[in-house]
Amino acid sequence: MTSEADVIVVGLGVAGEAIAGTLAEAGLDVLGIEAELVGGECPYWGCIPTKMMIRAADLLAEARRIPGLAGTADVQGDWSLVAGRIRDEATDNWNDQVAVDRLTGKGMRFVRGRARILSATEVEVPEVGRFTARRALVVTTGTTSSIPPIPGLAEVPYWTSRNAVSAEQLPSSLIIIGAGAIGTEIGQAWARFGVAVTILDAAAHPLPLEEPESGELLAGVLAAEGITLHLGAGIASVSHSDGTFTVTGADGAEHRAEALLVATGRRPTLDADTWQALGLDGKPGTLPTDDRLQVRPGVWAAGDITGHGAFTHVATYEADIVAQAILGRPSPAASYHALPRVAFTDPEIGAVGLTEKQAREADHTVKIGLAQIPATSRGWIHKAGNHGFIKLVVDADTNLVLGATSAGPNGGEVLSALAVIVHARVPVTTLESMIYAYPTFHRGILDAVRAVRA
Ligand SMILES: Cc1cc2nc3c(=O)[nH]c(=O)nc-3n(C[C@H](O)[C@H](O)[C@H](O)COP(=O)(O)OP(=O)(O)OC[C@H]3O[C@@H](n4cnc5c(N)ncnc54)[C@H](O)[C@@H]3O)c2cc1C
Repeated sequence: MTSEADVIVVGLGVAGEAIAGTLAEAGLDVLGIEAELVGGECPYWGCIPTKMMIRAADLLAEARRIPGLAGTADVQGDWSLVAGRIRDEATDNWNDQVAVDRLTGKGMRFVRGRARILSATEVEVPEVGRFTARRALVVTTGTTSSIPPIPGLAEVPYWTSRNAVSAEQLPSSLIIIGAGAIGTEIGQAWARFGVAVTILDAAAHPLPLEEPESGELLAGVLAAEGITLHLGAGIASVSHSDGTFTVTGADGAEHRAEALLVATGRRPTLDADTWQALGLDGKPGTLPTDDRLQVRPGVWAAGDITGHGAFTHVATYEADIVAQAILGRPSPAASYHALPRVAFTDPEIGAVGLTEKQAREADHTVKIGLAQIPATSRGWIHKAGNHGFIKLVVDADTNLVLGATSAGPNGGEVLSALAVIVHARVPVTTLESMIYAYPTFHRGILDAVRAVRA
């Protein structure tokens, strides 16, 4: 293998795979380096396997809603079907040969190994060699689970989301530290399969970065499903003996379970040496970029590592901009004003743009429109499992919708209309004159529009 390439891509997860594939198809000499599995977190340990869990758990929950609406149902979950689907259909037993072949089929040269970035043009892979980039170096190294410095945690056999995704059998009980999207999605899914779940978080409600209404709604639903929530208190220590974890809260409360899942966020996969090698100042963190995702001349970044949102749709969006920039083609500057995010809990909680708090902090004069899903025609018809709301955050001076939340059945799908509204900067007055199909869940947007007031 020659030691030079037009482009070197370090990390072939969602973003790196897309960039390497586009550039190789365009005829560039691309060298792609991956330490683990080509495809990255999303297909093997993230989005896809967790959504398979949720699909199965939602079926159980829907079946349990049959009494009172449609008849009787005796429902028993069987985790082996979910574990089997994740192993065989989603991840090919955590084998990436198909993905490697797809990229090499496009002409990319592949190296398996953990790259060390030596400079803006040079990369070394231990026991393989040194490589020089002629045109561009692309850093798409993603994020890994962030483990908080809780006394005792480092000494116990805790799980991260990767262990949860590859679990062939479920524990009888589980403590989850972290009530963000990953913690609540896995917690609710496993509780629906019979696991006694406790969720702990220092924040006052789940999904702390979203609207407080979202967290309050979700907390109520999770508690009603039998999940123990211990919120608003930090953790003093963790211990493990005789097959049992004990988590002691800062308030002295003790929680015990067979398994412990740490779901306290993600940290950039980038070491201090790389930071220095790229000539960056300050403490290592996510990679700073310009609006074409360039870190410095000749060096680009995309995906989780940029810190613009740890989502697959951000990784693919940024990958496209980077590939076009390296090819010297025009592409729009990256813009995140309509960034969508969805917690695939039941109810799904979708949000786009600014929350009310963020809008106020950005000095907007804010008007709010709020509609409750159970009070809409479709929500009333739906009955069991109809929790949810639509919230619009509107600039009072311009009438532009700055942000919105859609919580409820299919909340992530209803979000699509709200994402268009925020992305295209549609004034709320235009939404008053639109015709909304009856009786859809998205018709709740009209109720929220009519409710907008300061
Ligand atoms: C449990 C879970 C559920 C999720 N669910 C969703 C969801 O529903 N929707 C959604 O949009 N997002 C979801 N995500 C987030 C999504 O998986 C990430 O945003 C996405 O994978 C980011 O892509 P990336 O290319 O930036 O990084 P990654 O996919 O993490 O890929 C980075 C790659 O770089 C490699 N690498 C790192 N350092 C080196 C090195 N030095 N040398 C060589 N290779 C290296 C890694 O091995 C990895 O394969 C979820 C994440 C998790 C953990």
